[in-house]
Amino acid sequence: MESNIGHACGVFGVYAPGQPVANLAYLGLFALQHRGQESAGIAVSDGEFITVVKDMGLVAQVFDERRLAPLEGHLAIGHVRYSTTGSSSWRNAQPVYREVAEAGFALGHNGNLTNTLELAESLGMFPGMLPNATEYDSTTDSALVAELVAQEYSSVARSDGRDLELALGKVLPRLKGGFSFVLTDEAHLIGVRDPHGFWPLSLGRIEGGWVLASETAALDIVGAHFVRDIEPGEMVVIDAGGVKSRRYAEPSPKLCLFEFVYFARPDSVLYGQSVHAARQRMGEELASQAMVPADMVMPVPESGIPAAQGFARASGIPYGDGLVKNRYVGRTFIQPNQRLRGSGVRMKLNPLPEAIRGKRLVVVDDSIVRGTTTRQVVAMLREAGASEIHFRVSSPPYRWPCFYGMDTGRRSELLAADMEVGEIRDYLGVDSLAYLEIDKLIHATHAADTSFCTACLTGQYPVAIPDALAKDVLELGVELPTPVAQP
Ligand code: SF4
Repeated sequence: MESNIGHACGVFGVYAPGQPVANLAYLGLFALQHRGQESAGIAVSDGEFITVVKDMGLVAQVFDERRLAPLEGHLAIGHVRYSTTGSSSWRNAQPVYREVAEAGFALGHNGNLTNTLELAESLGMFPGMLPNATEYDSTTDSALVAELVAQEYSSVARSDGRDLELALGKVLPRLKGGFSFVLTDEAHLIGVRDPHGFWPLSLGRIEGGWVLASETAALDIVGAHFVRDIEPGEMVVIDAGGVKSRRYAEPSPKLCLFEFVYFARPDSVLYGQSVHAARQRMGEELASQAMVPADMVMPVPESGIPAAQGFARASGIPYGDGLVKNRYVGRTFIQPNQRLRGSGVRMKLNPLPEAIRGKRLVVVDDSIVRGTTTRQVVAMLREAGASEIHFRVSSPPYRWPCFYGMDTGRRSELLAADMEVGEIRDYLGVDSLAYLEIDKLIHATHAADTSFCTACLTGQYPVAIPDALAKDVLELGVELPTPVAQP
């Protein structure tokens, strides 16, 4: 998948008195860096005060020893935010902090709500009136949820310290769309997953406490043991008394299928399955579905590697490297000017002509969203002497925008929105093109087939998309393909 596709953010939380919670949050965010590179932030509570440090940039750019040292406390939450064009600003960084009466709370949000406008109107506000808000972006969502919680917080004021939990209990049933939250007040760490569980959130045990993380790999990296996933529609409250679970909605699991295809780290576990092994199986399925005689199977690194390994294993065609990835190109890379434009992709990927020349290649990637990078990769391989290029994609055509937390832009920017596979083949300039069929993709995950959101592939949105939001992204004249189901 192209690296310019925004992601849904990553969240982390730790409750561990006596442990260096800010450092643990730093490590956790570092492990989740692939989920968002625009900004990073940590909120730490020492039982009396909450301190928030956040800034633009990668985790390692935002935090150093000097910034982490004063962050002492017994619980912390952290957030990495995805990159988008146009809404990049310090004010969008999370966690969001709100002061309520004598107290306060901080919130980190992974996902996107679909009823932002309705919620804002219920507050007598419009998105533009929210602090730092731009219409329909996740910042609006997070600021709005914080506002709703703050209002309820005052109304449930009580002396046993359960204000945040009770306020959330009133707000959560009103939210629609995709959300995994971590929150903290002075004494509690709270984790929440939306009723569909679009985005993962796992609970781990660490010496002296508990950890919440968007992915299990982040648990591993801070030395925590995986305990269980937070269930869709569940809120967990963690404090000195342990972990308390509260169900605020009936679960209807629809984990984002793209977590398996692309988003999650290969060393994470989803639905009890290794992501890396699932991606290899996708490659095996692809080989059995769309075999072609060839001399070498190669990945588009790094996203296509496990599926290419699986394809090679199942087909018996030798696996080889035909492209080298520059590991050090990050978001700070300055795009070349007009004259040097052609070198943009080459800065990230460069072919190995001696491995490619005269060969019939099967080139494997996990997905094609906009297609611009793929087209340039194909041109580079041709230039390097490939005699045939057979492109294989380990997921179906990406035809519909995501409204639940991944930023793919407008529908017209999606390569497969209005093109059939044959047209895409011609546009990319390949000899043949095949996409993995959806049932085979789901089969490869080894998880139950009723348990996924597949909206960007099928147009069947598990949570209804309001007209105003759909029109903006789908653009004039485009209708959703099926009546959308209510949650
Ligand atoms: S629409 Fe696609 S990217 Fe978005 S949650 Fe569903 S499967 Fe994931």
